[in-house]
Amino acid sequence: MPGFELFGDRERAQVQDVMDSGVLMRYGFDGMRNGHYKALELEKVLAEKMQVKHAQLVSSGTAALTVALASAGIGAGDEVIMPTFTFVASFESILALGAIPVLVDVDDTLTLSPEAVEKAITQRTKVVMPVHMCGSMADLKKLKTICDKHDLLLFEDACQAIGGTFEGKPLGSYGDLGCFSFDYVKTVTCGEGGAVITNNDQFKLNADHYSDHGHDHVGNDRGAETHPFMGYNFRISELHAAVGLAQIQRLDEFLSIQKRNYMIIREALASIEGLTFRKVPDGGVESYAFLSFFLPDSETAKRVHGALGTAGVDACFYWFDNNWHYYRKWEHLSAKKSLPKVSWEVNELLRDYSTVDFSQSDHWVGRNISCLIKLGWAEDEVRARADKMVAVISKSI
Ligand SMILES: *Cc1c(COP(=O)(O)O)cnc(C)c1O
Repeated sequence: MPGFELFGDRERAQVQDVMDSGVLMRYGFDGMRNGHYKALELEKVLAEKMQVKHAQLVSSGTAALTVALASAGIGAGDEVIMPTFTFVASFESILALGAIPVLVDVDDTLTLSPEAVEKAITQRTKVVMPVHMCGSMADLKKLKTICDKHDLLLFEDACQAIGGTFEGKPLGSYGDLGCFSFDYVKTVTCGEGGAVITNNDQFKLNADHYSDHGHDHVGNDRGAETHPFMGYNFRISELHAAVGLAQIQRLDEFLSIQKRNYMIIREALASIEGLTFRKVPDGGVESYAFLSFFLPDSETAKRVHGALGTAGVDACFYWFDNNWHYYRKWEHLSAKKSLPKVSWEVNELLRDYSTVDFSQSDHWVGRNISCLIKLGWAEDEVRARADKMVAVISKSI
């Protein structure tokens, strides 16, 4: 997955352009910048690649989630449905706006269970936020039907699945809003960065203003711009955007390497009795950023994960025990451990998730192991790795 594995001359040349003009900010300084607008250019390329009208670049994936929700008017007391298996950024972005994260089970896709989503809808629900974890997607068709029926927004967190598709559409473009992260370990990286994509003109306008203190970006005198509403600073720098601009143009190359490496390992593992693969919903094509599989029970999964580590097969994850990606270790969320005082809505409405039954999530995540697919591996290296994995797993299963 990490695009940094293949940094080269193109990234260097883009960064050099920015240094040559000396303008590290995306807005203003028109006379000095030698025509270089890296952030703007990256937005254009990204929108085109993702087949949407608009992209808004921001400082991180977490910022992208926050800006996307704010752009759609999500705020105090609004409920956003999110999965138990994701990254902490999901609830952080929701809580940053005073909205309420509502945790919901995942299924054998390792993403939101549509049945569990439907059960969790209340009068306060405004958004359903599937997170396309580890390179594969939620059943977006079912989720869209639910959203249409209840008049909710569908908002895709595609931070870990850039380049995957559903019914022929790039992940992130299927719902009302989509988000990407370009942090250092993602398939496309800026070092730090993120983006919101949408076909909705108003959401784009809001995201543009909100991510830059509410600036309306009219005219060419930054100091004279007006502020139709309050915002924050979630801007990306030109240096970061420059790296991303080189990387996004290599997305197809990255995806084909990911797919080749994934397929070699998958075909080898398919021979192991008792091992099954994560479900990809009908109409979905993975980004191949990870290969995720299930073992017959959680004890076996734990044992196999340990054996892979001992044998030196790195980058395989047992998310069930992970501090950052699974609800079981989010005691800071359940205990509302916030530095500043939380709003009364959050205080009243946020549930204590340490007491909620997520046995369906535990059933799937407890049996799962996900292995990162790296871009830097040579083909013979991947084959050797696949053979080793088969030997280790067959012995410990
Ligand atoms: C990486 C990631 C984020 C946050 O992105 P940052 O750029 O690190 O803030 C959000 N959601 C998911 C699923 C991620 O993997």
